[in-house]
Amino acid sequence: MAPLLQSQWRFRPVGGGTFHCPRCDRERDYTGTGVRTYLALFGRPLFPTRAEQTLVACDECGAIYDVEITTMDPAAARDVRSEDELALEAVLAGVVFSDSAVRPVEKRVARDAVRHYTHRPETGGGERLTVKRRNPADPFERIARLAGILDESSRRRFVAAAYRVCGADRELHSQEARLLMQLGEVLNLGPREIREAMREGMGGES
Ligand SMILES: [Zn+2]
Repeated sequence: MAPLLQSQWRFRPVGGGTFHCPRCDRERDYTGTGVRTYLALFGRPLFPTRAEQTLVACDECGAIYDVEITTMDPAAARDVRSEDELALEAVLAGVVFSDSAVRPVEKRVARDAVRHYTHRPETGGGERLTVKRRNPADPFERIARLAGILDESSRRRFVAAAYRVCGADRELHSQEARLLMQLGEVLNLGPREIREAMREGMGGES
């Protein structure tokens, strides 16, 4: 059953257009989504708690950005990191720092997973993972905001990447298992889809 009172993200389509996608580095079509948090009672939204934001997703690569990217100069937009990349990084940092022992192998696998996900040569993720530890935030805050925009294969890739980081030290700790289940829940994946995503993660594909 849904908790009595909770914050809930709602999504609504707001049309699309074309923009210069930084990840594709090309002119692409995008789909816009209005996202907003609501205070929900027993899973039913009562009233919005924040102004609506518009996010756009590249129809080709799936990268998600704030709508302001559509009016930016392509050269400046190149340095903007996508919302889904930042969300993945936050989730993986949450996994790495879920127990007191932060293993270098976990940080390396997390960095590789983000790089693999974005197809980019270098992200400097290791530095940011260290910073995140000093400011621990909810690792799922960013990803919850994207859950209604990401397609199923992207959502599974997130779980696969998190699972890979969990298994980096050849052990699945109870805090890590809990984080994986929470992640699946935030991404609206059922137990079967989570299991499949874990298998993908094990196979080294994400
Ligand atoms: Zn793209």
